[in-house]
Amino acid sequence: MTKSFGYAAQNATSPLAPFAFDRRDPGPNDVAIDIQFCGVCHSDLHTIRNEWNNAIYPVVPGHEIVGRVTAIGSAVKKFKVGDLAGVGVLVDSCRVCPSCKANEQQYCDKGMTLTYNARDKYGDLTFGGYANNIVADETYTYPISSKLNPAGVAPLLCAGITTYSPLRHWKVGKGKKVGIVGLGGLGHMGLKFAHSFGAHVVQFTTSLNKKEDALRLGADEVVLSKDPDAMQAHANSFDFILDTAAAPHDLNPYLELLKRDAAMTLVGLPDVPPTVVTGALAFRRRSLSGSIIGGLVETQEMLDYCAQHNITADVEVIPIQKINEAYERMLKNDVKYRFVIDMASLQK
Ligand code: NAP
Ligand code: ZN
Ligand code: ZN
Repeated sequence: MTKSFGYAAQNATSPLAPFAFDRRDPGPNDVAIDIQFCGVCHSDLHTIRNEWNNAIYPVVPGHEIVGRVTAIGSAVKKFKVGDLAGVGVLVDSCRVCPSCKANEQQYCDKGMTLTYNARDKYGDLTFGGYANNIVADETYTYPISSKLNPAGVAPLLCAGITTYSPLRHWKVGKGKKVGIVGLGGLGHMGLKFAHSFGAHVVQFTTSLNKKEDALRLGADEVVLSKDPDAMQAHANSFDFILDTAAAPHDLNPYLELLKRDAAMTLVGLPDVPPTVVTGALAFRRRSLSGSIIGGLVETQEMLDYCAQHNITADVEVIPIQKINEAYERMLKNDVKYRFVIDMASLQK
């Protein structure tokens, strides 16, 4: 067994606290990684507080993982000891269903194996990246360019791919007017990508104090979504809207901003189902859709795109001892724009 040490939630109400546990020893296709940085995703918080009613305690969260390879199995080809490696939201899938064959492993018919809060094919409970190490199948592990700051790269493994994938799927680019709802971890990456792809980008926010940042990060316009007149000024004008908001909110005012045949995609996963006015969709043949992270090939494409275009997350690096405080700030929309845990702090 590989001895591991990290922070875990033992139930829905107690804070994260130190936790020792075992992982499997690396098999022929596995790499062992010493974790350097792990991003803090809002999904970590939804999960540990059991807002999705699926928590399997103890939960060691964390699926935006970057670190150094310390050991490799006999069949490993992609990595050698000392390489920088990343692990994201999924660590396995069935590999044979139509989605897996299409490199859309996140939509695996048998269900992907999540990096934490899941049972893997060995029957073990998976534990995530708020820890000193991880053992993962090399197929589901990404080589990371040493050109970029590793703390800023970590959030690409979830916030990055979750926004990159739908923006690519819906063909966002030059000549398109695109909205990003929410300027948090996902939202600020969506804004950077949409801007980088050449679109005219409108950032929607509930926090007017984020306006200057949104402009700096690439927004052409910023709209305070609580202001009905400011919203109405953009009626029927968007080619695409990406909604990253983490809390329940009314989708209908955004649907009214789409052009005929345009789409809005939800990546935010609040725990309360939305109410949709069917007329807001029907009268202009608009679509409402959803999206989950991205597949293995697209995630590597996104990482390569970021290395090429010098794109990373804007991060506030914290020691693990501040994680519970970070969650409280996240709930107040006070994150600029991703907390990333420096795992060296685990030694303290
Ligand atoms: P985050 O950093 O907390 O950002 C969420 C942002 O949502 C906030 O900063 C805020 O932006 C906005 N917001 C909050 N309450 C709102 C409200 N009532 N109305 C409108 N906007 C509101 O969270 P995150 O890590 O980016 O995650 C966002 C959501 O995506 C979470 O639900 C998470 O579970 C989900 N997620 C989904 C996937 C996927 O694959 N689909 C992957 C990762 C995460 P402003 O201050 O600008 O308003
Ligand atoms: Zn995430
Ligand atoms: Zn599959």
